[in-house]
Amino acid sequence: MFDIIIIGAGPAGLTSAIYGLRAGKKVLVLEGKAYGGQIINAEMVENYPGMPKISGVELATNMYNQVKDLGGEVKFEKVVKITDGKIKSVKTDEGTYQAKAVIIATGAENRKLGIEREKELTGKGVSYCATCDGHFYKGKDVVVVGGGNTALQDALYLSNLVNKVCIVHRRDEFRGDYANVAALKKRKNVELVLKANVIELKGEPKLEEVVVKDDSGEIKNIPASGIFMAVGYVPQNEAFSDVVKLDEAGYIQTEDGVHTSASGIYVAGDARAKELKQLTTAVSDGSIAADTAVKEMK
Ligand code: NAP
Repeated sequence: MFDIIIIGAGPAGLTSAIYGLRAGKKVLVLEGKAYGGQIINAEMVENYPGMPKISGVELATNMYNQVKDLGGEVKFEKVVKITDGKIKSVKTDEGTYQAKAVIIATGAENRKLGIEREKELTGKGVSYCATCDGHFYKGKDVVVVGGGNTALQDALYLSNLVNKVCIVHRRDEFRGDYANVAALKKRKNVELVLKANVIELKGEPKLEEVVVKDDSGEIKNIPASGIFMAVGYVPQNEAFSDVVKLDEAGYIQTEDGVHTSASGIYVAGDARAKELKQLTTAVSDGSIAADTAVKEMK
């Protein structure tokens, strides 16, 4: 029996664990994939106060080690169900665990572009992680799809490795930060294809060409060995939809940013409906969720 079970070992979940452990509670973290969440995809994090430059992997590893050093238990098991009650029961693909409180910190995962052959060509040219797969495309031509900070940072990262990066974005304004856009515009091997959508992926057995169509109807064939999809994230809360209220997009609803619709079940990080989804807001959520859980624990 644990005091707190935390679902998800990204920055929000690991911060919850640190705060729970430092409050003297028995904490279990359950993670279905690898620790670190989305941040492990960031080659360099430059907006975490006090750490002007740190790789996403290093930051996540520091957080994970901090949890382990404080005596936290981490199991790499996928949660399939929460059963509510005074004592919560959390079922994974390998076992069932009980706790007085649960913090859901499952974050979000890469949105698929939803184009034909996307799944078939994943690993054969289609990628969702520039820092993981970029080195496979050294000296080659690649496309990055999206106009948010992930797309912009992926393009910056890739432009140091590959021959040419073509950013395909459906609007002519970027959702991502001005600083990233300005840095990209200085890169000689980066081309912007704006107001355009990818309509076809060509190549056998690997990607060879990306076909895009712009708002005027003009079609362009871009030779590319790789295409990096950076079109945002989608929440991973289906398994909890019978115990906590979700909004239309699948994010967990809260009135105050931490309490879900179920007593004793809290939420932290990108799993919840909120405006600013950042590393800093994830760790803020994580600390508040654990502090609230500890104070309300009977
Ligand atoms: P995002 O900000 O939601 O941007 C997604 C981009 O994909 C948008 O430009 C969107 O276009 C485009 N898009 C979505 N669906 C599409 C579709 N079906 N076809 C074509 N384009 C599509 O996602 P993100 O860039 O992954 O960033 C997520 C959050 O993490 C943001 O808050 C971001 O600031 C943050 N982040 C921070 C850092 C950092 O600070 N180090 C790094 C990466 C990400 P529209 O703009 O037209 O909607």
